Amino acid sequence: MSARILISASYFVVAILFILGLKSMSSPVSARKGIVWAGAGMLIATLVTFLSPGMQNFALMVIALAIGGGIAWWGGKVVKMTDMPQMVAIYNGMGGGAAALIAAMEFARGEMHGSVVAALATLGALIGAVSFSGSVIAFTKLQGLMKRAHRLPGQNLWNIGVAAFTVLVGAGMVASGEPAPLQILVFFALALALGVIITLPIGGADMPVVISLYNALTGLAVGFEGYVLGNPALIIAGIVVGAAGSLLTQLMAKAMNRPLTNIIFSPITGEAQAGGSQIAGSMKEVTGLDAAAMMRYAQKVIVVPGYGMAVAQAQHKVWEMAELLEAEGVEVKFAIHPVAGRMPGHMNVLLAEAGVPYDKIFDMEEINAEFEQADVALVIGANDVVNPAARTAKSSPIYGMPILNADRARNVICVKRGKGAGYSGIENALFYGENTRMLYGSAQKAIAEVIAHIKELSA
Ligand code: NDP
Repeated sequence: MSARILISASYFVVAILFILGLKSMSSPVSARKGIVWAGAGMLIATLVTFLSPGMQNFALMVIALAIGGGIAWWGGKVVKMTDMPQMVAIYNGMGGGAAALIAAMEFARGEMHGSVVAALATLGALIGAVSFSGSVIAFTKLQGLMKRAHRLPGQNLWNIGVAAFTVLVGAGMVASGEPAPLQILVFFALALALGVIITLPIGGADMPVVISLYNALTGLAVGFEGYVLGNPALIIAGIVVGAAGSLLTQLMAKAMNRPLTNIIFSPITGEAQAGGSQIAGSMKEVTGLDAAAMMRYAQKVIVVPGYGMAVAQAQHKVWEMAELLEAEGVEVKFAIHPVAGRMPGHMNVLLAEAGVPYDKIFDMEEINAEFEQADVALVIGANDVVNPAARTAKSSPIYGMPILNADRARNVICVKRGKGAGYSGIENALFYGENTRMLYGSAQKAIAEVIAHIKELSA
């Protein structure tokens, strides 16, 4: 078999593995298998690259693979679950940056044959560079290295102006076919600046959607550069990532009721968050014993997990508590908001890890109507996703975002450490509600105490 046929056949297998992998990732039951499928596809695609005709610099390739693979292996091992979004952000960025570099190299070598190829390379470079610098800013924000959003005066004009200027310089590159090094440099500087200025004003609450958007853009950029290089594996991987990322972005934007244009052109900034209206009333504390009694003698309890449960790693205790309650005849369900925690599916993964059966875990649309019949809504380390201001306060920056209707349960118990705000920095009226009681403490410790009291009550 000639090398060319072997390469083409391998790319076909790779495409199937990517698609099978993605399909399997659509359910928590088969997600692990999906990772293995897609990983195997990536491994084959990487190995086959060594067989490509005219390939040189094998030693450099092996060194780059060893360094990149080593860092990724180590990073994957040590990263905490709650830090996963920034890891995803930085990997996204790398992909976009790599796509942009391919275009830069092809232009620098002066091998842009045909205007379609040059146009696609330039488009890929623009998208890839924006995705790279935007993802780096997203990383610094999620990592807490940049604490607040920064907005330029006339921000939207800047966005549009820099974008238009970048496209203009790019169009010049395509027209010339062999642009001068300075032209290439200016183009990349502008594209990188565009990613930075678009992302700087975007606040924490919108960050998941932005990361997902950059993910989709990276896929698109990789797909374009795959076309430039004539590499089917890159084209397929790019299309798969681009399509999946676009769908996820759309789903998340819909879940937050924040059209993409609003996220980019009128983001929720630090200043807007700080300016939330004052809430009347006070927070009323409850003891672990009272919380245990309220749930032990309830008929139906809905658990709403959030970021705080993830930080405290309280999922095992929460499931232990739910099992105890079920043994006493209480119906227990888990309600998941699409952006609870710090990444899509964050809560589903944690609950699955703790052994909660999938048929007890419900998406927002499935369970929201049931809160009114629940005796207790137990909110564990969740805040923004249960903030009724989104429903009622027209002046609130999160107005219109769908939330879990925890406040409509007969009683609400909120577990959190103190008076800390949610990720968006907005005050939460739920905590001041007549039917709400606060159980202060770190989630794992607080639930352990509740478990001890449920056992006493059931003895
Ligand atoms: P929030 O971040 O809104 O609130 C978390 C709450 O948990 C805080 O109020 C905090 O209060 C409490 N908490 C923190 N540590 C502990 C602990 N050890 N024990 C108990 N409680 C604790 O979480 P939500 O899940 O409600 O909302 C997610 C937010 O994150 C949304 O704004 C979303 O947009 C954003 N986001 C989501 C991503 C995603 O893809 N899911 C990605 C990035 C951001 P206190 O300090 O008083 O304890």
